[in-house]
Amino acid sequence: MEQIIQLICDNTSFVLAGHISPDGDAIGSCFGLAFALEKLGKDVTVVLDPYPKKYNILPGSKFLYKGSLDQLNVDVFIALDCADVNRLGSGQSLFHRAKHTVCIDHHKSNTGFAEFNYIEPHASSTSELVFRLVEKLVTPCADIATVIYAGMVDDTGGFKYSSTAKSTMEIAAQLMDMGIPFTEIYNEVLHSHSFAAGKAKGIALQNAMQTPDKRIVYSYITREEIAAIGASASSDMEGIVEYLLNTGGAEVAVFAYEKQKDGCKISLRSHGIDVGIAAEAMGGGGHRLAAGCASALPAKEALEQVLDLLEKSND
Ligand code: 5GP
Ligand code: MN
Repeated sequence: MEQIIQLICDNTSFVLAGHISPDGDAIGSCFGLAFALEKLGKDVTVVLDPYPKKYNILPGSKFLYKGSLDQLNVDVFIALDCADVNRLGSGQSLFHRAKHTVCIDHHKSNTGFAEFNYIEPHASSTSELVFRLVEKLVTPCADIATVIYAGMVDDTGGFKYSSTAKSTMEIAAQLMDMGIPFTEIYNEVLHSHSFAAGKAKGIALQNAMQTPDKRIVYSYITREEIAAIGASASSDMEGIVEYLLNTGGAEVAVFAYEKQKDGCKISLRSHGIDVGIAAEAMGGGGHRLAAGCASALPAKEALEQVLDLLEKSND
C-alpha cells in the first residue's frame, strides 16, 4: 500500500477500471478511489462497462469515460476488483499502454498481474481495501462513504457472508456516521429488481434440480426463456444462485444462463466446499464460496460438466 500511495503522489493522470459486468463492488471501488484522487487534484477517469440501473443512485458517474479508449493515455492504470487481466474487458489495451499499473483486489485467484499489487483475499470487498487506502490519502467525504458502503453491502450480501470481518463492520459504522442514506443504498443494491428479473427467478426455480444426495441444487435458463420474458442478461439473473443455495440441505448451488448469441455464464455458490476449484477448471475463477465461469456450451451441457468437476473436487 505504501508503494501505491507513493505512485499516486508522484503521478498526475489516472484511469481506474473494474471488471466486465460491473457489480456494486467494482463500481464502488472505482468511484470511491476516483473521488479521492479528484480531491488530491489528480486527473482521473473511470472505465466501466454499462452497469445495472439500480447503481444509478451512486454518485460518481461524472468520472465515466465516454470517448474512444484509443485516445486515452495515462500515467497510472488501476485495476479494481478484477481477478485477471482478461476480466478488464475494454480497458485491457489501455492497461498495456499505461506507464504504471496497479491492481487492488480481494479475489483469491488473483495472481498479481500488475506492476504494483494490493491483494487481500480475506477482505470483504475491494471497496473495503480502497477505503483503507483512501483514508490514508484524504479525509473521506459523503460521496466516498456512499459508494464504498454500496460496494461493501453488495459483496458481503448485506454483511452476511463469511468474508464479513470486524473491520468490515467498523468501516461500515464509520461510513454510516457520515450521514449516508444507508437504508436506501442497502435496499437498492440488494433487494430492488426489474419485473423481468422476478420472472427469470420464477423460471429458474421451475427448472431447478437436485443431485440424488440433495447436496447440490442446480438450475438454468435457456436463451429462448430469457427472450420470452424480455430479460436482459446478467443483471436480471442476480440473486438466483443465492436463492438456490438457501434450499434446506443444499451445500452447493449452480446456476447457468445462456447468453444472447452462444454459450452460457455459470455461477457457483457454496456453504463450505471450495467451488472456486471447479470454476477455475472451467477457465473462470472467484472465491472459495462464490465463483463463476463461462462456457461455450448450452447451459444444460455446461451444468453437467460443472457437476462432474464438483464431484471430482470433492473426492
Ligand atoms: P458471479 O457468479 O456473481 O458472476 O461471480 C462470483 C464470483 O466469481 C465473483 O467474485 C466473480 O468475480 C467471479 N467470477 C465470475 N465469473 C468469472 C469468470 O468468468 N472468471 C473469473 N476469473 N472469475 C469469475
Ligand atoms: Mn468484489
